[in-house]
Amino acid sequence: MTVDEAIAEGSAALGNDAESARRDARLLVGNVLARTAAWMLANGDAVLADVDVARYRAAIRRRAGGEPIAYILGHVGFYGRTFAVTPDVLVPRPETEQLVARTLETFAGDRALRFCDVGTGSGAIALTLAAERPRASVVAIDVSAAALAVAARNAAALRVGERITFRLEDALENLERDMVFDAIVANLPYVRSSALASKPDPTSFEPRLALDGGRDGLGPYRKLLRRAPDHLARNGLLLMEAGPDKSEELAELALRALGGVGWVRILRDYAGLRRIVELRATPG
Ligand code: GLN
Repeated sequence: MTVDEAIAEGSAALGNDAESARRDARLLVGNVLARTAAWMLANGDAVLADVDVARYRAAIRRRAGGEPIAYILGHVGFYGRTFAVTPDVLVPRPETEQLVARTLETFAGDRALRFCDVGTGSGAIALTLAAERPRASVVAIDVSAAALAVAARNAAALRVGERITFRLEDALENLERDMVFDAIVANLPYVRSSALASKPDPTSFEPRLALDGGRDGLGPYRKLLRRAPDHLARNGLLLMEAGPDKSEELAELALRALGGVGWVRILRDYAGLRRIVELRATPG
C-alpha cells in the first residue's frame, strides 16, 4: 500500500465529512511514518511496510470509534507549541488559547509575574504563560496526579520546568494565605453532569474529572471563588473559561465573591460565544 492509497483508504473509513476525514487520515499516516505533511505530498508513491499498515489501520479504527485524534497522535498544538496529551488530560481547545492571550495582553513581560493555573491538566495554560513571560513563575494545580505527570513532562520539553510549581490539590483550598498572584487562570470542569456525552462523542474519551461541573456546571467555580479574591494581588486578574450558557451566572457569582473591590465582565471567544469571565481586583 502506498501513502496515497493509505490516505484514500483511511478517509473512506472515517467517512462523513470528507475534508476532515482526509485531514485525519493524512495526520495518522504521517504519525505512523514519522513524516511531515510536506514529505507525504512529495512521496505519495512511497510504499508502507506491513507493520506500518497494521499500525495505521489500528489508528484509523480508534479514530472511527470517536477517539479524539490528539490522543491517537499523542500530542496537540496549543498557542504555537506542541503539548503531549494522554487520556488522563483534557485535550486543550483552541478557545482556551484566549485565556492565555488575555493574560499576556494584561501583563507585559518586564517583571517577575506570578501566575496560577487551576486545573492545569496537560499544563497548556501554565506552561504557555511561563514560555511567553520568561521572568514569570507559575503555580500549576490539579486534583489528578496523572494529569500533573503529563504537565511535568510538557514542562521539561518546553524547558520551563524550573519556573513551575506543581501542586496536587483541589482548587485553592490548600494554598498558603500569603500566596498572591497577578493572574489566576482556570479552565475548570463546567459541563453539567446530566449533559456529559457518551460514546462515540469525542469528549466521552476525556477524563470525567476534567469535564464534570456537577449539577449546574458551576460547582468547581463556586469552590474556586470562595478563595480566589484572597489570592489576587492588587489589580490582579482572574480568568475563568465557562460554558456560554452559564457565563452570566458565573459572572454574578464572581462579582459577589469580589465584594465590591473591582469589576467583572464577560468576553466572547473566537466563535462569538460568551465563554470567558474576567474579574479584576482593582481598588476603587
Ligand atoms: N470545552 C469543553 C467541552 O465543551 C469543556 C471544558 C471544561 O469543562 N472545562 O467539552
